[in-house]
Amino acid sequence: MAVQQNKVSKSRRNNRRAHDALVAGNPNECDNCGELKRPHHVCPSCGHYAEREVVAVADEVDLDEDAA
Ligand SMILES: [Zn+2]
Repeated sequence: MAVQQNKVSKSRRNNRRAHDALVAGNPNECDNCGELKRPHHVCPSCGHYAEREVVAVADEVDLDEDAA
């Protein structure tokens, strides 16, 4: 096992971690439905990308369909 040669001080440790914060996403409004979506991604709520439908979105998924 590798063993560190010198103790890392609280200051040095905290300075290293100063850049570790997570940044919030930058969502755009969908041109079709107005929902927030990730830029350069297909809209998850309406399936549109670049003002045309590229993914068919199921209106409702019935999970109990073949349970009977
Ligand atoms: Zn949309």
